Amino acid sequence: MNYSINVCWMYHDIMDLYGDKGNMMVLKKRCEDRGIEFNLDTCGIQEEKDLSTYDLIFLGGGADKEQISLIPDLLSRKDNLQKAMDENTFILLICGGYQLFGQYYIAADGSKINGLGFYPYFTDTGEQGKRCIGNIVIDAKLDDLETKIIGFENHGGQTRNVNSPLGKVLRGCGNSFDAGYEGYYDGKILGTYLHGPLLPKNPEVADFVITKALQKRNRSFSYSDLDPIDNPFETKAREVLLQRFQVK
Ligand code: GLN
Repeated sequence: MNYSINVCWMYHDIMDLYGDKGNMMVLKKRCEDRGIEFNLDTCGIQEEKDLSTYDLIFLGGGADKEQISLIPDLLSRKDNLQKAMDENTFILLICGGYQLFGQYYIAADGSKINGLGFYPYFTDTGEQGKRCIGNIVIDAKLDDLETKIIGFENHGGQTRNVNSPLGKVLRGCGNSFDAGYEGYYDGKILGTYLHGPLLPKNPEVADFVITKALQKRNRSFSYSDLDPIDNPFETKAREVLLQRFQVK
């Protein structure tokens, strides 16, 4: 059977911090190595798109200024995004994008950005401009996949009231300075503070995202149906990083 994935990268021209674009490059490579067609589309402000037609929607991170600039457009797409989620489009959100799917985000200057409100979590700003910055490792459970996710975080936002976190923090901050947990995962969306970018350092997560995207049109497809790919460099890099961060 010939598989394909249709991806929409939202606000690609403004939400692309710390190499978030690398996430798309990794998905493309890992799909094409397996003969899975990878079609990448983008959606900028005021561009007319039916988001529910895609298998995967990706939204990266951005500075407060950029989040403020796109929020009217994002809010105008709320019904369409809801339809996409109802129809099993998988959503991958990094940092600034993750914040905007919750109730609100209080930017560093104190202004309140209303989010899409799909989830109960909300994001305050760090006290006295303090930010969570540095390398981070979390212990995550993605459906049946248990994996350590490695990344880099840089956010002032302190996300609270997360009822379904992505993983437990082994090193770094996560959703807030004192949360102990990182990100959000509920089977339909994966939101995380991890830049780095996320997927090159975490090939298992990349394959998990490919699986979730394929499941939109192939309900019975499972992670183990993906042809294995050797990851010698990624595996070595992960070993070195986990050792350096003293994470077992
Ligand atoms: N501007 C947001 C914050 O500082 C998001 C930053 C980001 O995407 N890295 O919390």
